[in-house]
Amino acid sequence: MIVALSHAATEEQIRTIEKRIAKENLKVVRMPGDDRVVIGIISSIPADTRYDLADSLDRMEGVDHITHVSRPYKLASREFHAHDTVVQVGDCAFGGKAVVVIAGPCSIESEEQMLECANGSKAAGATMLRGGAFKPRSSPYAFQGLAKQGLEIMRDVGKQVGLKTVSEVMSPQDVGLVADHVDMLQIGARSMQNFPLLVEAGNSGHPILLKRGPSATVDEFLLAAEYLLSRSDNDVVLCERGVHPLDRTYTRNTLDLSIVPVLKEISHLPVVVDPSHGTGHAKYVPSMALAAVACGADGLIVEMHPNPSQAMSDAAQALLPDALCKMVEDCRKVAEAVGRSI
Ligand code: PEP
Ligand code: MN
Repeated sequence: MIVALSHAATEEQIRTIEKRIAKENLKVVRMPGDDRVVIGIISSIPADTRYDLADSLDRMEGVDHITHVSRPYKLASREFHAHDTVVQVGDCAFGGKAVVVIAGPCSIESEEQMLECANGSKAAGATMLRGGAFKPRSSPYAFQGLAKQGLEIMRDVGKQVGLKTVSEVMSPQDVGLVADHVDMLQIGARSMQNFPLLVEAGNSGHPILLKRGPSATVDEFLLAAEYLLSRSDNDVVLCERGVHPLDRTYTRNTLDLSIVPVLKEISHLPVVVDPSHGTGHAKYVPSMALAAVACGADGLIVEMHPNPSQAMSDAAQALLPDALCKMVEDCRKVAEAVGRSI
């Protein structure tokens, strides 16, 4: 439920309204807008009290009108937060005019590899460096990542080259470790509904890149974001990375670009697109990156590698540094055509 206050509502009236809601043991958030202050009730309101409470609030001084919110997520919804959220990671602003480019390898493999990746990514126009130190692999025999050693490499290389960093955290007990080394936590697609992980990552107060689960509905995706937002004032960026495909013959996943305008309509959170996992093949990545920028994405996260044939994970989808450069140049033209920049 949303209680929209009248323009002239006084602080005292607002407090009285909040107290009335607190009497029902419901959690509220106050959302100052350009136009008026709005009070949102986040907890689910028992059906038998919903209408009585609405009637009672409607009659209180300072209240303009009441809106019932049917969506299960609140803090992630545009109804609760009308303006676009801009998530700031250092100088990188997700959700501003500029489209943020995050690039780097799938996995952190060595200092030398990371340095090459970071220099290539920066030269191409990326402002953030990606790379996994904890890798979610289907096979227990596949390379699992360098863990702490990888995070140390990433921290040092990020500083040296002047790029902000993002890396995946897979388990709740590693949240502190990853947050100590990188600027932004990544919650991977397979972990989108790992609720203890969401709680711990939410408590960290670190900016979070939340990837959509391969089979997650839009509501499930935004409820996962709600877990993060409900823990603290986290900065959350949503990431579409492809859903389970009908046909794996040609692409690894199906990049669901239609979710970008949908999320933009129903949520205020920035949306990033991952065309690398979305297609699984380097040759298709640039086309989907262009399409992502055209349909309103606030950022791209792209895998690259100086020597893809030697990559320890996701070799087939890694762009060479030159291909990344060309892709960003082309995306810049599309960005300008739709009123953005890179
Ligand atoms: C990754 O970014 O390397 C990764 C494992 O992504 P996802 O969780 O989308 O599969
Ligand atoms: Mn990968």
